[in-house]
Amino acid sequence: MLLFLFSSVAMGQNLREYQTPYYVIHSDLQGDELREAQVRMTRMFETYRARTQSFSGQIDRRFEFYLFKNKEDYFKADGPPNSAGVFSGSVLMATAGGDLQKAWPVIQHEGFHQFAKFVIRGDMPTWLNEGIAVYFQDSLFTGDTYYTGLISPTRLARLQAALKANRLKPFKDLTAISQDQWNRKLVQENYDQAWSIVHYLVHGENGAYQKPFTDYIEALSKRQPSGKAWQQARLPDLKSLEPQWRKWLAALPPDPTADQYTEAYAQTFATYLARAAAQHQRFRNFDVFARAAKAGTVRTASGRGGGENDPWLPPRVLADDIDAAMKAGVKWTLQETSTGYWIGATCPDGAHVKATVNLRTGEPPQVTIEG
Ligand SMILES: [Zn+2]
Repeated sequence: MLLFLFSSVAMGQNLREYQTPYYVIHSDLQGDELREAQVRMTRMFETYRARTQSFSGQIDRRFEFYLFKNKEDYFKADGPPNSAGVFSGSVLMATAGGDLQKAWPVIQHEGFHQFAKFVIRGDMPTWLNEGIAVYFQDSLFTGDTYYTGLISPTRLARLQAALKANRLKPFKDLTAISQDQWNRKLVQENYDQAWSIVHYLVHGENGAYQKPFTDYIEALSKRQPSGKAWQQARLPDLKSLEPQWRKWLAALPPDPTADQYTEAYAQTFATYLARAAAQHQRFRNFDVFARAAKAGTVRTASGRGGGENDPWLPPRVLADDIDAAMKAGVKWTLQETSTGYWIGATCPDGAHVKATVNLRTGEPPQVTIEG
């Protein structure tokens, strides 16, 4: 959602202000929930920036972000009904509303709209802005970064059903929807479809469109009109792109990025294990690690921290990922090595995910998939 309202409500009277590398966070959250916001907003911004490097502009100030503990306060501050977060065109705000697992994807989505407006600039067509926002919404926080390019099986099932029932819009209609029209009637299928086109252009056909798609957005950021930018980037015209995309979407298996989810979890585990080792906490095997993770006793930092170099990571995220990783029917192993750890995962399709943690060099964990 992206609404151009201009909130005149005096915001955040009960909120405290926290300076983080890219955001000034105004929040009444405390403890772990606040600290999680501080860590994630930094990694989130770095992910937007890394993925848009070739076309994003200069960043010369910190963004403002209002994060309310309670829904009531968020609505009082002009948060739209039935939403958990919004970028109003001027203000980014959200409510944790007691369920951070649901709140963070929304913040990743709305945060992109703010980033797009102030860093990418240009006149992004609505479908594109929303499609990329969903792309970040569905990415996974791994502690050091966000893992992008995942396909949510729920979103995909919804899309494929809509495709079968002929409910998806012709490209020429979807791409013509203005922000106003989009906001007046929020349609889940529009979000899903916009995301699928973005995903297709970034990852489909073995990445063949990735470069022209990037060129297209770069031209937009230089204030080229969309139609001209599309042509100059040598993207296929919508008429020939549409049937290719349909074919791609219809042929996707139910959980096409299952192995990538496993890779993202492995990266998360490796990151937490490295931080824990720095706190002199080691784990003999995966079961011991999983038990500690679920009990919230994996240590990632010594003190209260909160500063820019605070290595602390939210125990909640690790516990949730352990649950998700075990639910997916993946077989996990964890071994101590002479330099750190070796993590292995065997996926139901036979793919192997490997992660190594080198505590001597302190390098970021190396994670690979072998088919
Ligand atoms: Zn949106």
